[in-house]
Amino acid sequence: MNTVKKHFIIVGNWKMNPGTLAEAKTIFTSIARRAKQSKKVTVIIAPPAPFISAISGKGIATAAQDVDREAAGSFTGSVSASELASTGAEYAIVGHSYRRSVGDTDAIVAEKAKRALEAGMQIILCVGEMERDGHAHYLKVIRDQILAVMAVVDKKHSRSIVIAYEPVWAIGKSYDTALKPSDVHEMAIYVRKVAAEILGKTAGLKIPVLYGGSVNFENAQAILRDSSVDGLLIGRQSLVPKEFGNIIEYADSI
Ligand code: PEP
Repeated sequence: MNTVKKHFIIVGNWKMNPGTLAEAKTIFTSIARRAKQSKKVTVIIAPPAPFISAISGKGIATAAQDVDREAAGSFTGSVSASELASTGAEYAIVGHSYRRSVGDTDAIVAEKAKRALEAGMQIILCVGEMERDGHAHYLKVIRDQILAVMAVVDKKHSRSIVIAYEPVWAIGKSYDTALKPSDVHEMAIYVRKVAAEILGKTAGLKIPVLYGGSVNFENAQAILRDSSVDGLLIGRQSLVPKEFGNIIEYADSI
């Protein structure tokens, strides 16, 4: 029997929530209490940018939800990768489906990824199709999203890349919309294979792949146990410390 336990990555994407710093601290404190009990789960919280510095350095890694494609300059309202890194963010999400829906093309996502990596952060690259078609054209969408980024990043950064497969049609939906473990398994293999096309077999097949899209405690258990993903990217349920904590605890136990 294989007794080697897997090291999972659990990411909480708070999106534009909660409404105040006080609420953010309360939620964070409850999550941190649970996370500190786990021995082998990397927990990453992606709060709204103004809250990053307040919750960084307290035992859980933080992520920016986005970075600007430019390094610095006259870009009112934008926040650069180096600014976000200097507030304590160790990771940056790039290519989230929301950002893609408001204009981030594959080329823009690639520029953002490069900026984040050059600023010393690790990236969580989100990829995923809008819909599934019967001819598997969606696989090309995902391939293009991955290769656009892999083509521009310096190979020395290959160990700083995590890919989150998030089918857009499964994000923010009812929890029975989440992909079944066997489908998650297939997609994780596909994502690693595509990454290997540019990074080479050794580095590409080692890229951690997460699943995201309507994950809760119930479906998280089957996905973590019965697929080959390295973790989860969780939206709504990451604002519910009890549920999110249960997912961390489960990931720690298998
Ligand atoms: C997300 O924000 O990427 C996400 C997966 O959200 P949810 O878990 O709410 O579907």
